[in-house]
Amino acid sequence: MQKLVTFKEFTTITRSASIDTRQHGWRAGRLQTLIQLDLPVPRTVALSFETVHGIAAGRMPDVERILSAFGGAPLVSVRPSSQEARWGGPGAVLNIGMNDARYEDMVTTLGEAAASALYLRFIQTYAVQVSHLDDDLFDSPDTPSRTAVETALREYEIETEDYFPQNPAEQLVGVLRSMARAWESTSARLLRQARGAPAEAGLGLVVQEMALGVGADESGSGVMQFIDPVTGQSQITGRYLGQSQGRDALVDRERALYLTRDPRGPSLEELCPDIFDRLVQYGERCRTTLRDEAQVEFTIHEGDLAILDAIPVIRSAQAAVRVVVGLAEDNIISRHEALSRIPPRALNEVLHPRIDPETPRTRIVQGIAASPGAAAGKLVFSSTTAQAMAAQDEACILAKRETTPEDVRGMHAARGILTERGGTTSHAAVIARGLGVPCVVGASSVTIDRRSRTMTTADGTIYKEGEIVTLDGTAGEVLKGAVAMVAAGRDDAFESFLGWADEVRDIDVRVNADTPEDAALARRFGADGIGLCRTEHMFFAEDRLTAMREMIFADLPEDRADALAQLLPMQRADFTQIFRIMAGKPVCIRLFDPPLHEFLPHDRQGIIELAEALNRPVSDVQRRIDALTEFNPMLGLRGVRLGLTLPEIYDMQARAIFEAALDASEGGAPVVPEIMIPLVSACREVEIVKARVEAISAAVQTERRGKLTYRLGVMVETPRAALKAGEIAAHCEFLSFGTNDLTQMTYGLSRDDAGRFMGAYVRQGVFSEDPFLSLDTDGVGELLQIGAARGRAARPDLTLSICGEHGGNSESIAFCRGEGFDYVSCSPYRVPLARLAAAQSAL
Ligand code: PEP
Ligand code: MG
Repeated sequence: MQKLVTFKEFTTITRSASIDTRQHGWRAGRLQTLIQLDLPVPRTVALSFETVHGIAAGRMPDVERILSAFGGAPLVSVRPSSQEARWGGPGAVLNIGMNDARYEDMVTTLGEAAASALYLRFIQTYAVQVSHLDDDLFDSPDTPSRTAVETALREYEIETEDYFPQNPAEQLVGVLRSMARAWESTSARLLRQARGAPAEAGLGLVVQEMALGVGADESGSGVMQFIDPVTGQSQITGRYLGQSQGRDALVDRERALYLTRDPRGPSLEELCPDIFDRLVQYGERCRTTLRDEAQVEFTIHEGDLAILDAIPVIRSAQAAVRVVVGLAEDNIISRHEALSRIPPRALNEVLHPRIDPETPRTRIVQGIAASPGAAAGKLVFSSTTAQAMAAQDEACILAKRETTPEDVRGMHAARGILTERGGTTSHAAVIARGLGVPCVVGASSVTIDRRSRTMTTADGTIYKEGEIVTLDGTAGEVLKGAVAMVAAGRDDAFESFLGWADEVRDIDVRVNADTPEDAALARRFGADGIGLCRTEHMFFAEDRLTAMREMIFADLPEDRADALAQLLPMQRADFTQIFRIMAGKPVCIRLFDPPLHEFLPHDRQGIIELAEALNRPVSDVQRRIDALTEFNPMLGLRGVRLGLTLPEIYDMQARAIFEAALDASEGGAPVVPEIMIPLVSACREVEIVKARVEAISAAVQTERRGKLTYRLGVMVETPRAALKAGEIAAHCEFLSFGTNDLTQMTYGLSRDDAGRFMGAYVRQGVFSEDPFLSLDTDGVGELLQIGAARGRAARPDLTLSICGEHGGNSESIAFCRGEGFDYVSCSPYRVPLARLAAAQSAL
């Protein structure tokens, strides 16, 4: 026997009706709350997910019964009610029930223009959403009139070869069916999945009696909100438009009234002070009960106020932070809830200027979003031009096939960086994030030609040097022209919010800072110390590069020692400054890491200039470059391998660090520098470097008659170092996982080339995410677990941390905290994000 399943096809929403957002959706739930708050909500009926799913499958509920729930024969609207507001849904349909007979009645009672406006709106929405006609078939007349109605009905009949439905029940059937089916379409499913909804998410619908908004006495519609949606400051914003419906007031801003008194024009407050006061009271009630800032949608019909809905205000990230801080300060939500409500990534928006979301954008190219924020400027194709532009205070966007360490100064000078090649941990990406400059990498559909100073897009359009473009590093796009921006918005609420995060978190957040400027920035962003100072970045300034190159070209150890002696005071000065800026907070300095060839010129012109500077034949320079060229420099002579083959470099650096530590300690607490050895794969490497560092420390103490303590650590960047962490830990005090290289080496995946196929890999589900962005907790993560466990077993007081780009990624931070790491370290602009992510993982 077939089992009979009975369920309620619809529920009239009352104070006590059984409405469940998991069955009826957020809007139905919210409308019930508004009714419970005694707000004048027109009669509303909710259709559950089950009912709507049935409608899509051809099981139509009894619509006559639904309409009779409204008594009489009112007009109704239907709006979507998915489980979460952000999952969206099909567009609303207003004025269901309008037909020729009602129209004639209304012409008599309301006048031709008002009646025509109502009917036209319905005909057009029905034609487009239910009968799937093109919306450009219907022009919006300046003044709605009988002629316009007749034309619209005729167009409908011609296109559908059918009459426009006149029976309200038949109209409602059409609307319900089209909305239910639209939700089940593939495109809608993909869209909501992109917004975080499960594929099988349900749709509820709410049918509501129309408050017309057109009529004899004061009638109209509007929206009111109680904050500025950009800054989050308390302020009544919104518009009201007489003789209008829905969100017309926001569309027709020219004619719409302000809500509060405003020197720019008349306001609702002056026109209807009582209604205005009631709206303000309702807004306060909504804030306290809904525990959020709501946008109240209201209609006035012949002097009567109706509240149609109260939806969360769409707000900028800056406003979102201010709102939760305000709610927590007013004890409406807890501080913990405030912290949990802001996705850490949203803080990027607060720290960087971004493109005004209201502005139209013409995209030239899509690449990989490598460093957030937006900037406009003239296109330039070389670092030298970028520097020249900056010297004249001209904003420029540096476009290169890829960047090399030589470009660092140009990157400093540019407002934005674009590269044709590279992935999220390529040179351009890492440096740009460190500088806080927006960056797009892996824009492989363009050809960037340095010689002709052009950028050619896939369709053959050529952009020349000097043309203005806007770079959107948050979306990974380059746009035509200078697009309007919204400024960065750090404010007092932002600082309080992060202060609360600091009270909660139990893992430190350090910063990857290479220069005194970075260190100062990091202090402002609230870093607990420096987790990675990549010292080689200090060698790219003009005066230092020459000394560096002399060192590389030295044939004899004495010549090398001379060049290093020139570099020593420069490094010492930098370190002293950094120690002073960090004022007692820990500073971890990594010894020299990159292959030496990175310091040599790559083009003919550069080679000639270097030959002149060194007073050597060009062929000599070329020979040296050839000798240093490696097939695979990332796996070649770099990191500790360089420290072992040219130990004078590490000797010089250790000396600079120790002397700086003594200088910076003068008159204050002793500085305890942390020294980190990169790219270790064997325990013996550590032993050798350690012995030399110790000898330098002893020498400096004797020479300076000072007392020094320091901590020695190892960067775990090779799988072997992770596996041998137990042995390695016996010789050092901390291990810091350099997950950029560790990911590269674990996957056998070049961090500089991965951009070319990463998109395809993520799309096909080979990787759920780019493993250079979000730590691969399964594979690379297992190496971290092994390394941490073996290291700690050998040395229980071992300090553990992560300093690859993952140190600024929320999920990776949660993983590290779960593994009992002491700190994460990330680029300066990601420090606030990391502070919040760390707090959230502790909640
Ligand atoms: C790393 O490899 O994770 C790291 C931090 O070092 P770099 O990015 O300088 O290679
Ligand atoms: Mg590395």
